[in-house]
Amino acid sequence: MGPQGAGKGTQAAKLEEETGATHIETGDLVRTEIKKGSELGQKIKEYSDKGELVPDEIIIDMTKPYLDDNDSWILDGFPRNKEQARALDEALEEIDEKLDKVIVLEASDDVLVERLSGRRQSEETGEIYHVEYNPPPDDDEEDPGPFVQREDDTEEAIRNRLETYHEHTEPLKDYYEEQGLLVTVDATKGIDEVTQEVLRAVGEDK
Ligand code: ADP
Ligand code: ADP
Repeated sequence: MGPQGAGKGTQAAKLEEETGATHIETGDLVRTEIKKGSELGQKIKEYSDKGELVPDEIIIDMTKPYLDDNDSWILDGFPRNKEQARALDEALEEIDEKLDKVIVLEASDDVLVERLSGRRQSEETGEIYHVEYNPPPDDDEEDPGPFVQREDDTEEAIRNRLETYHEHTEPLKDYYEEQGLLVTVDATKGIDEVTQEVLRAVGEDK
């Protein structure tokens, strides 16, 4: 968990490499469906373009098969409200699994806006970069780019998404704190330092 720009995608990719757990990013599932141009894709585009949450039922249906198919995973961007958290609990019960930890990456809105406005993603590999903090490679055969800005990384959509996070997703901290699962990590540190903290939180540090 964490607000937009806190570094969830960046850290999840590194965690996937370190632990072998599968990175499941609902935002990515949403973008892929939109790109396909399917009927479902057209429907969810209306929400995504405005930076609004896609209806719970759709997101849950999209995510569930990935839980079944993989032994261990890093959920990134799901759940984002109480309804989704309860649906996740039910889905996990069905397959006799449970969450090990809920990690929250914390950073101030100022830091987040700066990160999001400099964010670039490789169309070739999906890798996330930042123009200043983690620049895309200049001349790399493995990742030639192009490195593009996300359509919803506009100021208005960013503001909307942050508002939604504070209103609907942040309250989940209490939900998971009560279950003794919550670990808060200071996400304003450098990328590698944050990774170490996250690995410590899941007991995978060396
Ligand atoms: P963000 O930077 O807003 O977290 P994501 O890449 O995670 O962006 O998601 C892109 C869009 O996909 C969101 O704005 C939202 O419309 C939709 N989406 C992703 N995950 C969820 C979710 N768990 N519930 C509802 N909508 C979601
Ligand atoms: P999220 O998935 O939480 O929205 P991302 O992983 O996409 O966040 O990161 C947002 C932007 O901030 C990207 O451009 C990324 O390169 C950059 N970034 C991520 N973590 C850090 C960090 N610890 N320090 C500086 N920049 C970072």
